[in-house]
Amino acid sequence: MALYRFMSAIAPERPEISGFIFNIMRFATHDGPGIRTTVFFKGCPLACWWCHNPESRSFLPDRMYFEERCRHCLDCAAACPQQAIHEIDGVLCTSDACTLCGHCAEICMAEARQIAGRRYTLGELMTEIEKDLVFFDDSGGGVTLSGGEPLSQLAFAAAFLGACREHGIRTAIETCGFAQPAAFREVALAADLVLFDLKLVDREKHMRCTGAANDPILKNLEDLVALRRPLVVRIPVVPGINDSAEDISAFESYLGRLRPQAVELLPYHNTGADKYRRLGRTYPLGNARQPAMADLVAFRDTLARAGLNVTLRG
Ligand code: SF4
Ligand code: SF4
Repeated sequence: MALYRFMSAIAPERPEISGFIFNIMRFATHDGPGIRTTVFFKGCPLACWWCHNPESRSFLPDRMYFEERCRHCLDCAAACPQQAIHEIDGVLCTSDACTLCGHCAEICMAEARQIAGRRYTLGELMTEIEKDLVFFDDSGGGVTLSGGEPLSQLAFAAAFLGACREHGIRTAIETCGFAQPAAFREVALAADLVLFDLKLVDREKHMRCTGAANDPILKNLEDLVALRRPLVVRIPVVPGINDSAEDISAFESYLGRLRPQAVELLPYHNTGADKYRRLGRTYPLGNARQPAMADLVAFRDTLARAGLNVTLRG
């Protein structure tokens, strides 16, 4: 049956359960097969230096200011109940008195202010998903849970996956794998595809560059391979972080032994740099360069020689 035929039937069993979401991206094509709607969960247990979604990190809302859109009308300052917004020497500043109430974002006609992160009930989220069913049906696509880290909101992620499955919507989950094994297993089994981000094999380096040890990550990946569930291991290739000869050799040896179904190399890009500025934060990687195509091809070929099914995203 075509999915659109039962659009009106989407009514999850627990419509009141809610999750904290910072973006819903339609027509995504890189987060699984076909055309997808990617739902970005807010909050992540890691703090990767190269993160291109810095607004995903905190489990609280984030205030963003798009300076280039601002018309300096000061409507936001007038609307702020905390009087937290001031213009100093032509620069709009927001003080620590801000309570993240969001009034400034609501009033700003230029959309120069945004609050990243809001609660969605499962019912609300499924209503959003319902709008895209016809695209899933035509393309073989579906819904992808991303973030942040969806497993950090375990109950909501599980309920969302369950509601999608109940209505015949294919699902994928993008995860860093940092979760309790039982929780990881529960959610991994509920999704049709797991996109597993593996950043580094070296434990000390992983701790230094992401803020956490990778023991639970490697354990969960090994368990997932043993379950023989559809899986793609995705490696973000970040120059100077995980592309040294030692790092590539560690990936080759670890994944060569593990034999996941597929591996994808994701070249680093610095498109997240502007977001750090909008959040008033410093970008930890500064002027990091994009990886050279020749180096990416060599990385791919090394993994392929180990017998892995590896692709390089263009
Ligand atoms: S309301 Fe918007 S456009 Fe006006 S000063 Fe505030 S941020 Fe700038
Ligand atoms: S989020 Fe609320 S408290 Fe913070 S600056 Fe905007 S209006 Fe003021």
